[in-house]
Amino acid sequence: MPKKRIVIIGGGFGGVKCAQTLSARLRPGDAELVLFNKENHLVFSPLLADAVGSSLSLDDVIVPLRQLLPGVQCRTEEVRNIDLAAGCLEYEGYDGQSRRLDYDHVVIACGNVSNLNVVPGMADHAFPLKTVGDAAVLRTHVLSQLEKAEVCDDPVKRRWFLSFVVVGGGYSGVETAGEINDLVRSSLRFYANIRDEDVSVTLIHSRDQLLPEISPSLREFARKKMEKAGVTMRLNTRVMLATGEGVGLKDDFVHGGTIVCTIGSTTAPVVARLDTPKDKGRLLTDPDMRLPGRTNAWATGDCANIINAHDGQPSPPTGQFAERQGRQGADNIVRVIAGEPTRPFTFKVLGQLCSIGGHSAVAEMFGFKLSGFWAWFTWRGVYLFKLPSWSRRIQVGFDWAWLLVFPRDLSCIKTDVTDRVSHAHFEPGDYIIRQGEPPSGFYVIETGEVEIVRTSPEKPAGEVIATLGAGNFFGEGALLNNHPRTASVRARTALEVVTMGRNVFTTISKSLAPLRTALTAAITRRSPSAWQERPAVLAALRELPLADIIEPAPTPLLSPTDSLYAVTCQFARNPSDFFLVSGDGVKLEGLITLTGLLRAQSDGVKPGTPLADFMVKDPSSLAATDTALIAASAFRELNYKILPVVADKDSRRIVGVVRVRKLITRILQVVPPPTGLTVPPLPPA
Ligand SMILES: Cc1cc2nc3c(=O)[nH]c(=O)nc-3n(C[C@H](O)[C@H](O)[C@H](O)COP(=O)(O)OP(=O)(O)OC[C@H]3O[C@@H](n4cnc5c(N)ncnc54)[C@H](O)[C@@H]3O)c2cc1C
Repeated sequence: MPKKRIVIIGGGFGGVKCAQTLSARLRPGDAELVLFNKENHLVFSPLLADAVGSSLSLDDVIVPLRQLLPGVQCRTEEVRNIDLAAGCLEYEGYDGQSRRLDYDHVVIACGNVSNLNVVPGMADHAFPLKTVGDAAVLRTHVLSQLEKAEVCDDPVKRRWFLSFVVVGGGYSGVETAGEINDLVRSSLRFYANIRDEDVSVTLIHSRDQLLPEISPSLREFARKKMEKAGVTMRLNTRVMLATGEGVGLKDDFVHGGTIVCTIGSTTAPVVARLDTPKDKGRLLTDPDMRLPGRTNAWATGDCANIINAHDGQPSPPTGQFAERQGRQGADNIVRVIAGEPTRPFTFKVLGQLCSIGGHSAVAEMFGFKLSGFWAWFTWRGVYLFKLPSWSRRIQVGFDWAWLLVFPRDLSCIKTDVTDRVSHAHFEPGDYIIRQGEPPSGFYVIETGEVEIVRTSPEKPAGEVIATLGAGNFFGEGALLNNHPRTASVRARTALEVVTMGRNVFTTISKSLAPLRTALTAAITRRSPSAWQERPAVLAALRELPLADIIEPAPTPLLSPTDSLYAVTCQFARNPSDFFLVSGDGVKLEGLITLTGLLRAQSDGVKPGTPLADFMVKDPSSLAATDTALIAASAFRELNYKILPVVADKDSRRIVGVVRVRKLITRILQVVPPPTGLTVPPLPPA
């Protein structure tokens, strides 16, 4: 039998169980198992709330996939597209480039993603709880609210810091509200200025009962127990909006310094892009979990809507179901490989468990109902044994036992990294950015020039494709699109730049509309595809020596000491709308355009003011050795019609100017007109 390649997309409960089952049932010679997951670990989501409440460490809720799945090729990469017809997928490689991989079978187990846009304002003001990163950020935030409340001398503000609103009364909402309530109230003895009545934890749920999955008596128990512990219940209540102050209800407003949103999820992007039948974004499947009309594409877990043959109902999005589907999906793949018929997905729910805080839980297992401490003990025991490795079980069991006796850890780790807005100096030839590097900074040129160098299959040694001068910026594209640098940036002269770290750049570009507009325009202008779409033009630009289109500089050369009045007279006497400035008649020191002159006049510059005070100093220029491609990029970038040309960047000896009109004319003379256009071509040069 030829070796089959089985690719699993997603390393959550469904994907991991599928990989484990396949690995146990198929010999390495029969199948190559590949699992793609964006992170290198499985997240044990039911324990995320415990990590928020500091009753577990963050390390305890994740398990490294590589150690969990020996014999499976674990790839920490994101799958972008699945081509079901061709039997191959496209993923983002380590360097940001797209790569393809063929498969014999694919299992889609991507889960879903949080969608805070279900309520206006939620995305801006609420914390989600889906990933281990969400849990870390929320835990840090809760603890920092305690720290702020402790030192706050305004009692109203202090109570606001200590007000927590959790939206959603399902498993994750109930567990999160219970854990935050426990963490904050059980830690008050360490905060001298906070009293129990300063704290409020509110759980808002749109239905009349919490936890719709469990029996009414247990729901009622959970509600009463949580209320007794200090959680305020707002049932039958829908949140209409969220603000920085709290959440708006239909006819009320609940103030909260912290809002946690556990409702709202949406389809994972790779599933959204898949052209196959879906129900509310979840993949519809045949009874055996194959996508309709496909023999080798399967779906499991939260991303799929799979009918449970046991009761004819769609499977709920829970870890329990994801695991069973993963296992049965693997069994069906093994059956297909062995030429046997597949079986429909069937699962009888074993029980429901939910921790409600205060060492209490509610549980329904094998027809038995349990509540209180023993239910909590069972809940912990069940999850302990569900943890996928003995090392993790011992570690987590030890943490839980420790916390039964000792207080919770209140250290609040700041995840901020030092960000820098600073000045940097580079010597000619120094690299500021290298192609392929991950994005980290944004740069604005204060003085000097840089050249943009791109390597490509045709130019493996690199080709200078543009230059930038004072006032220009670079580094924005990779930061905004979060992809590796697409070109290198090298200092062409001595260079002074302002550098900005990613966080500062993101904050400023989000809030400053003119910068956003300039950045968007720059990204379009600098797109590598801008020339590639016109290969004949690109080739002509590469071949055309700049020397062929250099014209003499407009005369006279002006002096930096010339007055505004004298400069105005020069514009009146000469047809040029642009003059170069040089003190010694050799070295380029500045330029003045007609627009610049008019701006100086309207700004109230006095007639006797020297040109040095209102000219463009050390303007961007081309070197006589540059190609026409660099000139074209500079025209696009700077939006100028004429650029000065100097002999070289060190001497800055004026050689002449290049006009964009002349460049266009030369290109039109050598590039044949586009097919189908009847415009008479220009005569050859
Ligand atoms: C806070 C919380 C508490 C919960 N409590 C419970 C509970 O008590 N009981 C219960 O039964 N269920 C609970 N759940 C639900 C349960 O966690 C999910 O039903 C279960 O995780 C679904 O498993 P899955 O394998 O389908 O997806 P997931 O576990 O979400 O895993 C999907 C994986 O796929 C990866 N992925 C997605 N797209 C790509 C891509 N394009 N390329 C590569 N990788 C990709 C993701 O990074 C992720 O690791 C809880 C969920 C949360 C968030």
